[in-house]
Amino acid sequence: MQHMLYETDGPVAVITLNRPDKANAVSGLTLNEMDECFTRAADDGEVRVIVLRSVGKHFCAGHDLSGSDEALEKAAAGDSGPARGSFVDWKERGLEAIYEWETIHYLGYSRRWRDIPKPTIAAVQGQCIAGGLMLCWPCDLIVAADNAMFSDPVARMGIGGVEYHGHTWELGPRKAKEMLFTARRIDATEAEAAGMVNRVVPLDELHAETMALAHEIAQMHPFALAQSKRAVNRTMDIQGFYSALQAVFDIHQTGHGNALSVGGYPILTGLSEMKKSQSDD
Ligand code: ZN
Repeated sequence: MQHMLYETDGPVAVITLNRPDKANAVSGLTLNEMDECFTRAADDGEVRVIVLRSVGKHFCAGHDLSGSDEALEKAAAGDSGPARGSFVDWKERGLEAIYEWETIHYLGYSRRWRDIPKPTIAAVQGQCIAGGLMLCWPCDLIVAADNAMFSDPVARMGIGGVEYHGHTWELGPRKAKEMLFTARRIDATEAEAAGMVNRVVPLDELHAETMALAHEIAQMHPFALAQSKRAVNRTMDIQGFYSALQAVFDIHQTGHGNALSVGGYPILTGLSEMKKSQSDD
């Protein structure tokens, strides 16, 4: 694996996002490797709890928009052409390609990780931006370092939120709207008050606190843990979580469709740069 590390500490699997030079931005390759890690942990009978963490200053800067993987994957595909869904070939196939790719890599993976029948814990430090939310929100618990900041500024790109609409469920409707409307960052304390994170710990204790919590949970009966998780997730699904995710994913796609139609690119980049330069601090 190039972007991920996988290890176990007794009954705890630790999945580590390891792209600190890119502020842990996620590309298609990153997500495929992360899915491999989650699958491995889910399939390993010795693993009872899964921790997702990242190396470096920031948990995750969001989607890697550099397209670096795209070139690699195209080259690897050779003369036979790329496998469908292996990269976003939107220039050839338009919104259909975006919809297909994001169904697999964003909504699909996040939804699958959310339903792994083992407790998952995300440890978040520094910035957790847009696509980063789609990594920590599907986890059952979130431990935040006291410097953690959560944001989804994609309204600056003409899009109404990232592909996995956890916002309303995680924050409640008013805070969700504020987060989306203003693109501002929610700090760890505010996230804890909203019920979005379980606990806030000093940055230098983040890993130790997360592992202690994981080991504590790992003492419980694995079937009871799976059933507890299922009980909460199914309750949310009956309230509409699962259907809402799909519905809002489709709303997200109309954002890409609009950007393509007016700017010829899946996001409104000019708007993004303008707003970013105004708000950089
Ligand atoms: Zn998208």
